[in-house]
Parts: sequence; C-alpha cells; structure tokens
Amino acid sequence: MSGMVLVFDFDKTIIDVDSDNWVVDELGATDLFNQLLPTMPWNSLMDRMMKELQTQGKTIQDIEEVLKRVPIHPRIVPAIKSAHALGCDLRVISDANVFFIETILKHLGIRDCFSEINTNPGYVDEEDRLRILPYVDFQKSPHGCNLCPPNMCKGMIVERIQATMAKEGKKRMMYLGDGIGDFCPSLKLREADFVMPRKDFPAWNLINKNRTLVKAGVHEWTDGEELEHILLQWINTINIEESQLLSVENCKLETMSKAGHGALPQPLPVPY
Ligand SMILES: [Mg+2]
Ligand SMILES: [Zn+2]
Repeated sequence: MSGMVLVFDFDKTIIDVDSDNWVVDELGATDLFNQLLPTMPWNSLMDRMMKELQTQGKTIQDIEEVLKRVPIHPRIVPAIKSAHALGCDLRVISDANVFFIETILKHLGIRDCFSEINTNPGYVDEEDRLRILPYVDFQKSPHGCNLCPPNMCKGMIVERIQATMAKEGKKRMMYLGDGIGDFCPSLKLREADFVMPRKDFPAWNLINKNRTLVKAGVHEWTDGEELEHILLQWINTINIEESQLLSVENCKLETMSKAGHGALPQPLPVPY
C-alpha cells in the first residue's frame, strides 16, 4: 500500500463525455431532455428520461450497448491500471449513477481497480425500467452546501474519506475532475494533497479564480495522455520522498542502537 488515495470524477474525466448526455443523445431523446431540463433537477430528469426511453421501446440492453461504446482516451485505462498496480487506493465520486458507471468500468476491465464508487443509486425495477435516485435525499435531509447540486456534495464525500484515511495509514489524496461539482471537494484537500482540474473546464476556472482558497498542489491536464503522465509522476515522487524519509528514520534508529541507548529491543537468541 502506497498511502495514496486517488479520487476520480467520472464524466469528462475517466470517460471523455458526460454519460447522461451520451445515453440520451445516442438513444435519440435530446430534444425531450432539453425541453424538460428547465422544469426539474438534472438527477430527477435522468430518472424521468429512463421512463421516456422505455415508453419509446428502448430496453436496458439498448442502454448497455450505448454505454459500452462511450468515448474514452486510450491512455486512461492504462493510467488507472498502473496507479492500482503501484498500490494506490482508487475511488470514484460522480454525479452520474451506479448503473452507467459499473457497466462502463466492467466493460473496460477496470471495475476491480476501484475500492469504492460514490454516486447516485440506480437499479432496474420489476418493470425492467432503469431507476435513478439522488445520492442525498434532498427533500428529507438537504446537505446544506451551496456550492453543490441538491442531490450530491462531493466535498462531504471527500471529508468522509479523509476521516477514514488516517485510520488506514493513508496520508495523501489526489483529486481529478472537470466540473463545477469538483470545486467543492478541491477546497477540502490539504497541503500534502494534489488536485488535477481539467484545463479550460469549469473546475479549472473556479480553482484559478480562487487560488488562495485551495491548499493542495494544483496541476492542470488536457487529455488522457497528460493525465497519465502527471498522475504517475506524482505517485513516483511521493514514493521516492517516502522511501527517503523511511531510510532517514532507519538511519536514526541504527545510530541510536549503536550508541547504546537501548532504544531497540534486542532480538532473542535463537534456540538450537
Ligand atoms: Mg465530470
Ligand atoms: Zn459541496
């Protein structure tokens, strides 16, 4: 274990488009979507759209097929596999839904690289219709963050992960994202952390305008190739730093025991 937690947004970060728009557009329901958008929250609209698509004769299999051909930069999957192989703890925080994300990640063969997917629940009901629910029940218990949409505050999820990191001996977080919803979690990061906003996207604009509010290191990225490069370089740098720290610690301990301070317990004699 490397002690690093990598948190990925999904839409326009792991995949190159927004999965909600992708499904609606590919199944020919763009006009209806645009017509209904001003009348309800995005998350509720997606649930409604799944009903409309079913009425138009589209099946769960049609949705799965569309998801399996979602555009993704060819270096994203290798980047994720490398980070996982280097011992990082990878997680997703996304305002898409669990059905879309699981279908795509399984299809790409990288579902098992992620220890956790935090997103809006989604399931196929008894009428074979995909239902999409909000992550936070905003009618019953609103999250109260005014930077985030009513159904999800990504910053709160980051805080929850931070609270468990210490117990698990994990020290640093990297956060990768593009959207407005990725600004709030960027503000929760600490000095040793790192945020990678996608260049010229809303999160990048917000971070640049509010640089003094962001404690973490910031590095922009443009496409999957750049993402892979920066990500692996960061992991490498931290690994080198930590192994140097470790050898300094070991040196100190050695010096102490040589000096006869008795700081280290003596090994028991091996019985023959
Ligand atoms: Mg996104
Ligand atoms: Zn928030």
